[in-house]
Amino acid sequence: MSGHNNFNFAENKNQDNVLYYRPELQSLARVNVNLSALRDNFLFLKQQSQAEMMPVIKADAYGHGLIPCAQVLEQAGARIFAVGTVGEGVLLRQAGIGAPIVALLGALDEQDCRVAVQYSITPFVPTFEQLRVLQHVAGADQASFVLKFDTGMRRLGFSENELGVLLEVLNRTPNLQPFMAASHLAVADETTGGNYTQEQMACFSRIITGLRQSFPAIKSSLLNSAGILAYGDYQSDVARPGIALYGVNPLLGTNLDRPEIDLHLKPVMQVIAPVIQVHALKKGQSISYGRTFTAPEDMTVAIVGAGYAQGYSRGLSSKGVMLIKGKRCPVLGRVCMQLVAVDVSSNKNVQEGDWAYLLGGENEQAITVHELAQLWGTISYEVFCILGTMNTRKYSI
Ligand SMILES: *Cc1c(COP(=O)(O)O)cnc(C)c1O
Repeated sequence: MSGHNNFNFAENKNQDNVLYYRPELQSLARVNVNLSALRDNFLFLKQQSQAEMMPVIKADAYGHGLIPCAQVLEQAGARIFAVGTVGEGVLLRQAGIGAPIVALLGALDEQDCRVAVQYSITPFVPTFEQLRVLQHVAGADQASFVLKFDTGMRRLGFSENELGVLLEVLNRTPNLQPFMAASHLAVADETTGGNYTQEQMACFSRIITGLRQSFPAIKSSLLNSAGILAYGDYQSDVARPGIALYGVNPLLGTNLDRPEIDLHLKPVMQVIAPVIQVHALKKGQSISYGRTFTAPEDMTVAIVGAGYAQGYSRGLSSKGVMLIKGKRCPVLGRVCMQLVAVDVSSNKNVQEGDWAYLLGGENEQAITVHELAQLWGTISYEVFCILGTMNTRKYSI
């Protein structure tokens, strides 16, 4: 390792030669993003359904980096993207992405609508009020948007009951041309989710049939990653894979799983941090804040340069595990703000300057995101979002 310090004084001065703070400066940890794995996952998902794959790259591509991910997916054949906010869509446009972009969170006010129209970003529209604002901003111009329907998630969208009124409004306003209609599945990744998912699918199909009487060309979009992998035969035009693109099998541990899925989905993110010091912890000595761990025998500990400020949750105190030189090393005592102690007693060749894997690793001992999420008491999505956005990312292809 070429030194721990990734702080470069010259690089971190602005034009006025004033030192400025970048969030990643606080972090010695590094997020390695494997863009070939992302591409391969996308190509695998394309084979799982007839629907066009619209990669979901909201929230900075689930912490993997919005722009590099979009660029690689575009090269791999993605023809349309889904982001969260209109602002994320603007970043994609500024990076030269010309494909259609939909904003799942919609355009919330006039300002948002203006930006969406200006940058050709297609917002989700879940309410009559947002439809009204969009029409007001578009004036006589055509505005493209996605009608969002609630078929059972009970989060955002028009209900099936509102379809009649909605069609009346749309038929009165010829500049409002819905490009797509979408809904979201609540339990596609659960063993007992079959019936509810079938009901959602049936409801969505009725809505699409109703809409097509006025808008024959409107596209339909229902499936998330779990939906694609478990219900890929469902007829729809556009699917919205998120978590599976980043290498997670959403059907793991359910009766819907197939061995083929794990064979093909590859992890995209790994997270490493440097070992700053290795020292002895003698029998009876405690370690870290609160003295929650006392050595039952003579031990060796490594102090790793990452903590909750880097997104390695304090909830992992005495629970987490890291991988150093191919061996598992349990977290000892409390996770600190930028440091954490791990047990390397059975890993004698660990040295200062080695890298510890917080997530991933080179061999079969690699820490999977599923495992880390379970230790943490959360899901893979949150692990990616937190570790991925709080640390410096490096890309390989
Ligand atoms: C995040 C999101 C997705 C992607 O879901 P995954 O489970 O990550 O595949 C699809 N559609 C909507 C509306 C979303 O918000």
